[in-house]
Amino acid sequence: MINGVIIGGCSGVGKSTIIRRLLQAHPEFRFSVSWTTREPRPGEEEGIHYHFTSTEEFERLIEENGFLEWEKVYEDYYGTPKEVLESDSDEITAVIFELDTRGAIKLKEKYPQFSTIALLPPSIEDLRKRLTQRGSETEETIARRQAYLQKELQRLLTFDFALINDNLEETVQLVRRIILALNNRTKFVAPHVEKLLDDLK
Ligand code: ADP
Ligand code: 5GP
Repeated sequence: MINGVIIGGCSGVGKSTIIRRLLQAHPEFRFSVSWTTREPRPGEEEGIHYHFTSTEEFERLIEENGFLEWEKVYEDYYGTPKEVLESDSDEITAVIFELDTRGAIKLKEKYPQFSTIALLPPSIEDLRKRLTQRGSETEETIARRQAYLQKELQRLLTFDFALINDNLEETVQLVRRIILALNNRTKFVAPHVEKLLDDLK
């Protein structure tokens, strides 16, 4: 059984930063690299941050049923490829998905054994500052992302875990501990329950 951990939260809350830190410290965690039609930001690499593609190619993949879930977020398509669950290594202990809230809820509906972790900003002002400070957005894209925020915040309350990303180091440690606890469930507790069920027969 794969430990699927879905990290959701509004744009600019700190998801990528936190996931990057976790992957550096835990090579046994795998990141699900999504497909997107948006342009790469400076420093983003093909196959590491996203698979960057055209709208035509993305729509072809939708038709071929190549995604576990996909969404149009703002103006662009984003989707989780199916291959990510075909684990080629026993050493992978957790697969981390970074999704918008609709995608997170959809994936959790499909795989109820996966866990969802919501990241919330300390304040709207902080969120605005983070988006501006990242320097990747124009005034227009920031405004578009803010308009989407109200619905996202409401959906985040349905997640299994919710954390306020105030102090970055503390949040990274909390997410890390949640994932390790979940790993314990998939690696040891789930097989143990199987065994107990067998013994009952
Ligand atoms: P997301 O992936 O959720 O869109 P990012 O990880 O790109 O967000 O973070 C947006 C910006 O906020 C980045 O410049 C990042 O360095 C900064 N940031 C992330 N977490 C914190 C935090 N706890 N305190 C202050 N700034 C943060
Ligand atoms: P960004 O353009 O800032 O990288 O991402 C925009 C939003 O799309 C973020 O909330 C991010 O988590 C989300 N996202 C990234 N990949 C996927 C995906 O495969 N599916 C869905 N549903 N959302 C995604």
